[in-house]
Amino acid sequence: MQAGRKVQCCIVGGGPAGMMLGYLLGRAGIETLVLEKHADFFRDFRGDTVHPSTLQVMDELGLIDDFLKLPHDKLQRLEGYFGGTALRIADIGRSGAKHPFIAFMPQWDFLNFLRDKGQRYPQLKVLMSTEATDLLWSDGAVVGVKAQDTEGAIEIKADLVVACDGRHSVVRPSAKLDVEEIGAPMDVLWFRVGKGVETESVFARIEAGKMMVTLDRGSYWQCAYVIAKGQYDAVKARGIEAFRADVMDLAPILKSGIGDVKGWEDVKLLTVAINRLKRWTRPGLLCIGDAAHAMSPVGGVGVNLAVQDAVATANLLADKLMKGRPSEDDLDAVRQRREFPTRVTQAMQVIVQNNIISLALKPGTQPIKPPMFARIINAIPWLQGLTARFLAVGIRPEHVQSPTSTPG
Ligand SMILES: Cc1cc2nc3c(=O)[nH]c(=O)nc-3n(C[C@H](O)[C@H](O)[C@H](O)COP(=O)(O)OP(=O)(O)OC[C@H]3O[C@@H](n4cnc5c(N)ncnc54)[C@H](O)[C@@H]3O)c2cc1C
Repeated sequence: MQAGRKVQCCIVGGGPAGMMLGYLLGRAGIETLVLEKHADFFRDFRGDTVHPSTLQVMDELGLIDDFLKLPHDKLQRLEGYFGGTALRIADIGRSGAKHPFIAFMPQWDFLNFLRDKGQRYPQLKVLMSTEATDLLWSDGAVVGVKAQDTEGAIEIKADLVVACDGRHSVVRPSAKLDVEEIGAPMDVLWFRVGKGVETESVFARIEAGKMMVTLDRGSYWQCAYVIAKGQYDAVKARGIEAFRADVMDLAPILKSGIGDVKGWEDVKLLTVAINRLKRWTRPGLLCIGDAAHAMSPVGGVGVNLAVQDAVATANLLADKLMKGRPSEDDLDAVRQRREFPTRVTQAMQVIVQNNIISLALKPGTQPIKPPMFARIINAIPWLQGLTARFLAVGIRPEHVQSPTSTPG
């Protein structure tokens, strides 16, 4: 066992929630450790969608100019093919957002950016290759974290532990926090296909029994092929040739690059979950981001809700942490603020799942008809601004109000 450490806040997990919260608390002058189990942030096909709500936060932090210098693709209009009919369902240009586009950027660029910018705050330390293994308890309260780094076991004491360790959180079962499963009818297969000069704004493609989303990433297509829940083994059993044929059938534009999908190792399964914690806290412990509520990929909101949780946490708790150990009521104020946007967003995802995705995945040969609400939105441009606002800015957007210390 290595010598222990003591900090004001220990954050478990260096994803969007953990890195943003670390940045904000370091900026406020709070001694903060972020533990990330991987040696780097490089993981393919994690959430790459930086929405206007997150761009607004970067703006409020004075980081937006440098951030937008990182390579990214912009998406402003969300369109889809419903059984051959093209419809526009959201126009972010009409959303009223200051930065009215979704920036597609590899998540590792986003996280590396936050880590690099955070280095100006001496109170913030990010420990890579450091995995939290359990919580430290005293008199029924969480007082720190047990972790493992490259040199062995380590104990970190903290006034507050924040679990940002994602949908497979080890912290929440350690804290015996119950998860309410909402369920999802689908899983998603992610893959990349090489792209020539062709370009297409179409985003979702829905035909009888099939659904796919294609994202134009400049030099390649990022593709999300939607399958019925638990059917991955059945899809695999039909063989990679049959899978490639299904993909080309749905999106002929991918024909020239489909050879990039050589085998199943080029296809990544996302097991879709929608769930949320009933209680986000124990004394000394708070869960946020996917650790508190896993989101469906519908709308690409997971990263952005995680960032919003982090901003709310810093706004509500930075001053309390300056003074010592926040009470559980202080911590629960974060749930009270963020549970409503989480529930409303998950409810909308369930509506899309039940009314579009389940329908699309039903085996059948009848051509898919666009749902009435999609036709109405397509016909009325200001409604496209409304759907875009919900998606891009979200319910109850957070603004940075946490204090700032002088950079070292
Ligand atoms: C394949 C895939 C595609 C997705 N696509 C999108 C998308 O297009 N748009 C979107 O918005 N969302 C998408 N999501 C969801 C999105 O990535 C998450 O909602 C978002 O990243 C949540 O952020 P988070 O910080 O709460 O958790 P995570 O991003 O899951 O981060 C958790 C971090 O904690 C670390 N960690 C875990 N356990 C420990 C431990 N014990 N000790 C230390 N560190 C630990 C992990 O390594 C990870 O870095 C996708 C997810 C997947 C898996």
